[in-house]
Amino acid sequence: MSKTSHAPLRPRETDSAVFAPNIMGGSHEPMYGGVLSFMRRKLSRDLRNVDVAVWGIPFDAAVSNRPGARFGPQGVRRASAILEGDPQYPFHADPFETLAVVDYGDCSLDYGRHFDVPAQIEGQAREIVQAGATLLSIGGDHYVTWPLLKAHAEKHGPMALVQFDAHQDTWFDEEERIDHGSFVARAVRAGIIMPERSIQVGIRTHAPEDCGIEILYAHDVANLGVSGVLKRIAARVGDAKTYVTFDIDSLDPAYAPGTGTPVAGGLSSREALMILRGLGDLDIVGADVVEVAPAYDHADVTSIAGAAVLQHYLGLLAERKAKHGKKDLLTRVAEHSL
Ligand code: MN
Ligand code: MN
Repeated sequence: MSKTSHAPLRPRETDSAVFAPNIMGGSHEPMYGGVLSFMRRKLSRDLRNVDVAVWGIPFDAAVSNRPGARFGPQGVRRASAILEGDPQYPFHADPFETLAVVDYGDCSLDYGRHFDVPAQIEGQAREIVQAGATLLSIGGDHYVTWPLLKAHAEKHGPMALVQFDAHQDTWFDEEERIDHGSFVARAVRAGIIMPERSIQVGIRTHAPEDCGIEILYAHDVANLGVSGVLKRIAARVGDAKTYVTFDIDSLDPAYAPGTGTPVAGGLSSREALMILRGLGDLDIVGADVVEVAPAYDHADVTSIAGAAVLQHYLGLLAERKAKHGKKDLLTRVAEHSL
């Protein structure tokens, strides 16, 4: 049954987050009610036969300016309720016919023990990644990407990074400060991100170092256009295993006012989503959207953009699974060489 058919809702066909009979297919419940989960996926900690786990990390103690991204997972889940049920633009397909996706709930964190947080995020992410699910995380501030990268690198080795951001996040301190502006410098120094395969998109601030990563400033994006940006990303990243991180402040404050460190002159949501749509040839092994702070939002603008970013990740992963099957690159290479 498609929601667009307006067939009568059957009794108890609500609260799919809890009561969905399985983890495939749409839910078709009204957008305005029910227990919230990302795109009405079943809330589950069972990762057997799961392709993708969506996970919230409600942590914002690392921000340099406005806090509030701890409410990001709730805001994005709420905004995502409008997306379930129909073929998803611009993919012309329902990702849940191809992908088994669960909402894994939120990371368990103690707000009174900040220095325990990195290990808690990394440890819980490791369980998901090692179980074989592709992890899509909802921040939280951008600090959370550092333990997420470590958990992914343990399985995949050094990765390419595609980072959408107004900031380079390459501020570095020798001591283990918990700061949302340093994950890139840490990951490059630790050897888990390959700078020569990595690229930042939408930057409009200057940091002390670039760590060898290619930078496309916001004005570069305007000058190159979407297709020019995609060529630069493809040339840089190639076939490397890739982690995509989307700081919502890569968007202009007009499109994402609900964030901690907004910077004028950013990407439009259409521009950013068109770039994401063009990343289908990348071998994306994990991704996140971070820095959504709903308390500064207006009419859910920022949460809607955050939900759309995740919906695009799902569309790309569904297309890739339909094309290649759920096999890692090495398996595919081995098969082709037989
Ligand atoms: Mn950032
Ligand atoms: Mn930023």
